[in-house]
Amino acid sequence: MATAHVEELNAFAIAQAQLDLAAEILRLDPAVHALLREPLREMHVSLPVRMDDGTTRVFKGFRVQHNDSRGPTKGGIRFHPDETIDTVRALAMWMTWKCSVVNIPLGGAKGGVVCNPKEMSQAEIERLSRAYIRQVGPMLGLEKDVPAPDVFTNPQVMSWMLDEFSVLKGYNEFGVITGKPVALGGSAGRGDATSRGVAICANLAAARLGMQLEGATVAVQGFGNVGRHAAVILAKEYGCKVVAVSDVSGGWFNADGLDVDQLTDHVDTVGGGLLEGFGDHHEGATPISNAELLALDVDILVPAALEGQIRGDNARDVRAKMIVEGANGPTTPEADDILYERGILVVPDILANAGGVTVSYFEMVQNSYGYYWELDLVRERLKRTMTDAFEAVFEMTDHFEVHPRLGAYLLAVNRVAEAVRLRGWA
Ligand code: NAD
Repeated sequence: MATAHVEELNAFAIAQAQLDLAAEILRLDPAVHALLREPLREMHVSLPVRMDDGTTRVFKGFRVQHNDSRGPTKGGIRFHPDETIDTVRALAMWMTWKCSVVNIPLGGAKGGVVCNPKEMSQAEIERLSRAYIRQVGPMLGLEKDVPAPDVFTNPQVMSWMLDEFSVLKGYNEFGVITGKPVALGGSAGRGDATSRGVAICANLAAARLGMQLEGATVAVQGFGNVGRHAAVILAKEYGCKVVAVSDVSGGWFNADGLDVDQLTDHVDTVGGGLLEGFGDHHEGATPISNAELLALDVDILVPAALEGQIRGDNARDVRAKMIVEGANGPTTPEADDILYERGILVVPDILANAGGVTVSYFEMVQNSYGYYWELDLVRERLKRTMTDAFEAVFEMTDHFEVHPRLGAYLLAVNRVAEAVRLRGWA
């Protein structure tokens, strides 16, 4: 497929084009291919929410289940003003492949609400979260579909959602949602699991390039759950030098390295959740735009914000030696081809950020038998899962001589197709 054509299209068209490429190489049965190109189920909901000023606003929401042939579906819920059904469809499909890459017995789903939580009070976000569960609740369950946090949702939102689901059911079903606080049946180590997986992949990818992580320079785009923990883990546990970070308010650069503790302190206190104003209080940090950050001459670039950041129009500007995708879908297919030609190693999202869903799966397992693991055990199992997945993906990549995203797709799609065939669906 000519990838340039999908460049202009939306995330779902991109996800379908990525599948088409893998299907061609795998000579996938046309019926299996047709089934995997579309979600199995989706629900569109309208959510009336009483606002603090007494008015009622109606929000649009979605839940999409892409494929459950390998197990119950799994995927986060995003609250974002730019949310669309096609973004949610793409994210649901990517979840199917992600669960398959790390070989956990789950399928893919995703949810979203079109809203801007940054402009809502906590009470309004709570009412919205509960309204969402009242509507999509019938689709959910430990054996059906299990949500988790994503962009602009967090453990508090998961707690309200769990509580609302428990009210609907009349009993606690802790495993219906993951990314919960530990006090409500969450798993130790879930908070930074996605980022820990990113760091494990960066380390394995560095070894492929004959590069040491100690002293390697890093730029991180996005300083939310994934970006901030990735910066902290890479700096503190792997000895990397984080030279640039950014978020929706802009970014900061220091060639000598930014202090990750100062960055997180700023975001948690004076910044009100943002990096805005960091350089006013910390000498040596100079402002940098998101576009400049993506083009920095660093060893490792970690996109950890939103999809569609590295595209045909800026992929030639990238000077990093490797890209480890914390975000979902940050690189478009046209950019993939350019980066591959230029010898820049991309660890694709469905592998690099799979640490989150892996520990979410561990959380479901712990909820099922009501017995909780120590942090060390969670981290050891996460490391083993990520390492096995990394090796399996690069075995495919090397065998078929393709870029690593396609290698990951070949692995993932083949496993899902096998489950679909065995069930007799196609
Ligand atoms: P988050 O809401 O905690 O953080 C998002 C960050 O991106 C914020 O710092 C925000 O300011 C920043 N951002 C938004 N728009 C931006 C822009 N245009 N330029 C620069 N920065 C921008 O969300 P998160 O959970 O960290 O998720 C980030 C990405 O990682 C998403 O693609 C998400 O789907 C993916 N992801 C998250 C998890 C998880 O466990 N949370 C797991 C796998 C993948």
